[in-house]
This record gives sequence, structure tokens and C-alpha cells, in this order.
Amino acid sequence: MLVGLRPVIPTWVSYTVANGLTWFAVSMQVVGLRLVLRQPIPAKAMVFVVVLWLLVFEYFRLGLQNSHLRFGWALIFFAGAFAYIAYLARQIYKTYELRNAQVLAWMYTGGALVLCVRIMRIAFGYTEPDATAQGVDSFLVIFSGVLVSVMGSFAFVGVFIERSAKREMAAITERVRQEESFRLGEQVAQLERQRTLGMMSYSFAHEFSQPLTAILMDAYSAKETLAAEPHNSNALKEAIQGIETNANRTRELVDRIRNFIRPSQDAFEKINLKMLVQDVQHLLTHDIRKNHIKFEWDFEDEESVVMGDKVQLSQILLNVYRNAIQAMSHSQIRKIFVSVGKQGDRVVVRVRDTGPGLDESMRLNIGMPFVTTKSDGLGVGLSISQSIAEKHSGTLAITNAKDGGALVELNLPADNS
Ligand code: ADP
Repeated sequence: MLVGLRPVIPTWVSYTVANGLTWFAVSMQVVGLRLVLRQPIPAKAMVFVVVLWLLVFEYFRLGLQNSHLRFGWALIFFAGAFAYIAYLARQIYKTYELRNAQVLAWMYTGGALVLCVRIMRIAFGYTEPDATAQGVDSFLVIFSGVLVSVMGSFAFVGVFIERSAKREMAAITERVRQEESFRLGEQVAQLERQRTLGMMSYSFAHEFSQPLTAILMDAYSAKETLAAEPHNSNALKEAIQGIETNANRTRELVDRIRNFIRPSQDAFEKINLKMLVQDVQHLLTHDIRKNHIKFEWDFEDEESVVMGDKVQLSQILLNVYRNAIQAMSHSQIRKIFVSVGKQGDRVVVRVRDTGPGLDESMRLNIGMPFVTTKSDGLGVGLSISQSIAEKHSGTLAITNAKDGGALVELNLPADNS
């Protein structure tokens, strides 16, 4: 606009001020684009180049009063600046795939080319070295001006809008993905729990059948005694005693099951790991007996108390025992060695079996969900156990033991309070 008003406004305004403003706009675009590209801003160098350029321009204009030098100097530099902006915009397009950046690159490439055509036309003497020249040149000036300052500015703003929209989309997608994987994770954990319970309920049915049968037998013999010899109080006492003992056994069983099945909200409490490793073994009594498994305990004298959720820690141990029992199905010797001890301020539970150890294919993928070597396996037990251990600020690792079999190590912070 200032250039257009040249005939009616002071020349220093249409030259010096117009140039200063144009350079300011160009520099700001360079700064904006470099920020998008996370490139440093060479502020001092930029100010130096612009001031030097203005001084040389003024020298050509006022000192030498040479319009060819003045105009050529301006066009060459502006063409260079436009080409540089086009280059930055192209980099942005390639890095972030922003379509507006591509448009911006085309606009500024067009602007630079138009200026080059102008430079050629002046060099070959087709036109005057003045921004207000007539005819084709006036069209070229208007065209490059519109291209760069109007459409280019829209594209420039578009780059930033598009970028923030893209970021928001990425953030939303990430959130949805996390929520989804959390939801799926919960479902898988639930499924695994149901599977464990399914396996245990078979075991429980067996466990219950023994004391219940004994109770029925005692009740039957009490009834018989009452009918045949109602005064034989010894026989009656014995039968009632049997009923009481077996009823207590069933109550203990119910307590154990209730402890495991209660709702899975985090409920941290003091837990003695020496007790827990044995309690969980009782939950698998049937499988242990059926598979002729022997447990060997090795407990240090020191306290091994941790703060934790009983149900969740039981789930880890259940899974570890179950894996060990399954792994030893073809083994001659079937032993599970369980040790509980302290290591500094940690309590470490080690469970070793006499099975074949980890399959070669498993070793690299251990702890990855859905990796299993069993036909009926889900392959989530270990990964769920690891996340439970992490939730307790602990770790769970499985390796092959030196003397054969797999070795699982659960490491938890000791509770010293
Ligand atoms: P799943 O038991 O459903 O396969 P897990 O995550 O509990 O899922 O176990 C993953 C795999 O780790 C098992 O399929 C098995 O190959 C291996 N593994 C776990 N424990 C043992 C063990 N004690 N001995 C040998 N391999 C084991």
C-alpha cells in the first residue's frame, strides 16, 4: 500500500518504512516457521542482516542514487527470503504432513519466481527498475504481492491451526487408546481370575466332599447309636466330636475361599508372606495331591511382612504354583521349593520347581501378554502377576534355575512399621 501511494506520500515513507515493515513481516514468518520446526532463532544475526540490508539499500537510493542497484538489491534479497520461507514450509510439510505448509511453500516459491522474472526483465532492459512500473510488471508486482501477503498469510495461519488441531487429535486418540487398553486389561485380568476360580472350584468341591461325607457318616452313626443303644454316651460323644471337627474343617475352607473371592478393590494391609505362601498352597490341595507334588519350605527367622493386597498377592502365588504344577506334569521328581527371606529392606519369595524350565521360545517373550506354550493357556498370568507386583512397588521375575526347573522371584518392599 505504501508503495502504491508513492506519488502522494513522502519518499522515505514509501521506501524506508515500507521496506522495514516488509522485512519485519518476513522475519516474523521465518521465526514462526523455525519455531514449528523446533530450530533455534538466530535473532542477532537476523537483526544484523536486515539493518545491513536497509543501510545498503539507502546508500544505493540516496548516496549513489542508482535505481538499478537499489531495485536489484531489493528484489534479489526478497526473492532469497521468499525462497527460504518456501524451504522452511516444505520442511514442515515433510515433517508434520501439514497441507497448509505445502500451500505456503508453493505460494512463496511462486512469489520468488515472479521476483526472478522481474529481475530478468530489468536486467535485459524491458522495464524500469521501479515497483510502480506499468503493464506486465505492475501485474507481476500485484500478483506476487497477493500471492505472498494475502494467500501466503492465510496458509501461514493455517499451518498453526492445522498443527494444533492435529496435536489435539493425537492427544484424543492416545487417550482413547489408553482407556481402551485399560478397559481390555481389566477384562483380561477378570477373565484370568475367573479361570483360576474355575480351576479352584473343582478343587474345592473335592475338598468339601471329604469333611461333608465324614459329617454325614457321623450323623448316621449317631442316629444308629440312638436307636440301638440310646445310653451309649461315649459313642454319641465320639460322633458329635467328629461332626464338630469336620464342620470346623469346612468352615476353614469357606474362610479361605472367601478371602480369595472378596471384591477386588485394593485393600492394603500387613501381610506375613511366610503365612501367605502356605495359605495359597492350601487352596491347591487337591491339585497338589492329584499330581503328587511335594512342597519344601525354607523360611528365614526374620520377619517377612509386607504391605499389600492379600487377594492380589495370593493371585500371584496361585499363578506361580499352578504354572509349576503344570510344568512338572511329565517330571519324575515333582517338588516345589519355596523360600521366604529378607534382602536388605526387601522381602524375597523364591519358588523353584523341578520341571523342564522355561521353553526356549518363551525366554525372549516372558511377561508379554498372550504368549503361552499351553493349548488351553491364555498367556496372561505372568503379565498380570508382574503388574500386581509393580503396583506393590515390587518386581516379579522368572528365569531358569541353575539346578534345573524354573525359578520365580517375587521381590517386595518390607514393611518395617
Ligand atoms: P499361561 O499359564 O496361561 O500360559 P502364564 O502367563 O502364566 O500364562 O505363563 C506364560 C508361559 O510361561 C507359559 O505358557 C509357560 O510356557 C511359561 N511358564 C510359566 N511358568 C513356568 C514354569 N514354572 N516352568 C516352565 N514354563 C513356565
